[in-house]
Amino acid sequence: MKHLQIDPSASRPPTKHVSTIPSALPPATTTQTHPSNALSEEHTDAKLFFIGTATTILEWQGLRILTDPNFLHAGDHVHLGPGVSGTRQTNPAIDLDQLPRIDAILLSHYHEDHFDAEVEAKLTRDIPIITTPHAHSCLTSKGEESFTAVHALDFFETMKVDVKTNKIIGGQKPCIKISGMPGKHVPPGPLAVANDLLKAVPPTNGWMIELGYGSTGDDEQFDNGYRIYISGDTLMVDELKEIPRRYRDKQIALMLIHLGGTTIPGPNMPLLMVTMDAKQGVELMQLIKSDVTIPIHYDDYDVFLSPLADFKKAVEEAGLSNKVVYLDRKDEFKFKVRHF
Ligand SMILES: [Zn+2]
Repeated sequence: MKHLQIDPSASRPPTKHVSTIPSALPPATTTQTHPSNALSEEHTDAKLFFIGTATTILEWQGLRILTDPNFLHAGDHVHLGPGVSGTRQTNPAIDLDQLPRIDAILLSHYHEDHFDAEVEAKLTRDIPIITTPHAHSCLTSKGEESFTAVHALDFFETMKVDVKTNKIIGGQKPCIKISGMPGKHVPPGPLAVANDLLKAVPPTNGWMIELGYGSTGDDEQFDNGYRIYISGDTLMVDELKEIPRRYRDKQIALMLIHLGGTTIPGPNMPLLMVTMDAKQGVELMQLIKSDVTIPIHYDDYDVFLSPLADFKKAVEEAGLSNKVVYLDRKDEFKFKVRHF
């Protein structure tokens, strides 16, 4: 198992040329709580703040993890492969320069709707980034502009993130286990072979994030208190069936599902769908059986052709409405990380 230690008190502003940053996230427009896990907001100790696309901030025990940073605005363009581009339709909940301290970034794959050019130019070079082996090689081979704290995780490879803290509770301290989960951004078959040659759509990870407590002495001892699965930009493929096999008898409290039915090369020539649409999203819910599902990555680009309304309808038809929480940009979701 790989290890990373994060000291929240030592972290600097996440972007270059910024001297003052806010100490906290702005107030959310709407707060929702995990229905079965937290009786009321006062009983929660962690939250997920939705910025837009697949960009979220997970906050727990003074630690802040940013996922798939994309801070472009409506009208901005992203390059998604040779001859493939997308136009942003929405604005992020906050701007890149308004970010509070960030302790680590989880990057599902190296694609501009997840790590845009502005993010790449402005982030401090030494911010810890956990990502795919492919993105690792891209981000560390930029000469003087290379990122210097990039950690690669392959499918089912795990990294333990130790939080440097004096907060020892019952001989244990907060820690986070992050594992790469399988994903396929291109459907299997001849197009996948062509894509391997063209390198148009990069390989992607999903993530399993386990928030919990580990013994201060023994490295491997860990009690999970809240398990979050993030799908990444994957299609509903057979490889995902390995996830419930590996996490049998281990409850997944929350799933963040990348929807949108992203179709390339573009809306005028919809040839190839590379992220889940409504139907596949419901299939993934039925496979993962998380207690709560939150859809993200659903309406931010013109290449996202499967609207959220289609997912809502498919969820209702499948009788799963009580398992889904819908967040708009600038909304937050609060929950409790159990500690026995
Ligand atoms: Zn995407």
